[in-house]
Amino acid sequence: MKKTAVITGAARGIGLEIAKRFNREGYHAVILDIDAAELARCEENLKGQEGFSFFNCDVSNHQSVSETFAQITAQFSAVHALVNNAGIAIFKPAQEVSFEDWSAVMGVNLNGTFLCSQACLAALVAGKGSIVNIASISGVRASTLRIAYGTSKAAIMHLTKQQSVEYGNMGVRANAVAPGPVETEMAKLVHSADIRTSYADAIPLARYGTTEEISNAVYFLCSEQASYINGQILCADGGFDAAGVGLP
Ligand code: NAD
Repeated sequence: MKKTAVITGAARGIGLEIAKRFNREGYHAVILDIDAAELARCEENLKGQEGFSFFNCDVSNHQSVSETFAQITAQFSAVHALVNNAGIAIFKPAQEVSFEDWSAVMGVNLNGTFLCSQACLAALVAGKGSIVNIASISGVRASTLRIAYGTSKAAIMHLTKQQSVEYGNMGVRANAVAPGPVETEMAKLVHSADIRTSYADAIPLARYGTTEEISNAVYFLCSEQASYINGQILCADGGFDAAGVGLP
């Protein structure tokens, strides 16, 4: 029987790469996304490949999460990996961030991570599975324009530690990956030319990460190789955090 991995926000970008990686490793990859058109495109691109399922789900909506995970757990009684990857970014000067902006970012990034983890918990216990939450280097280091995004990602890191303690007692590990910049649709949307130059100057490896490099970190944390790693934040950031200079 195949193991099951559930990945949120996986119709494209980092999440899609993570889903493909789990699939290559022999897992059934369950892809969740809010964007029906992107999900349909993703399904079309993966047509003919076994071991993928697709669910339209808004991780920030309690009812949508409950209904989706009820369907998933009816189909797959155990889940072996949950990757809370769905995220949105709104980059604005702090004084221009509306309460709607703030709530939207917290709703997807933080509430979504909490809701999906809780909805999946029984299936994770059944599978002796583990959780990886996708945080960000913006939750480790404060910088301009990221008051909502950076705060949501910092909160995800503490949520991960809480989960490692409270779910750890049930045999479920929880860790987080904090990526540095990665070239995706999100980066195209929020990384201005100034931000790109600053990253190039500040990251010791002097480049963006790839979606494959982030999926490697996620898969490692879910694998048996990481069986005693619980409650940790793995920065996959080219040394950006370690360097500690040249904030964009
Ligand atoms: P992306 O925008 O390309 O993909 C995000 C996916 O999440 C999209 O398919 C989108 O439809 C989906 N999504 C958004 N809101 C959702 C919701 N409410 N419910 C379900 N799905 C939803 O972005 P990406 O760069 O691949 O980002 C993936 C994760 O990595 C995010 O959590 C992001 O914050 C994090 N991250 C990205 C970078 C980067 O530079 N790209 C850096 C650090 C962290």
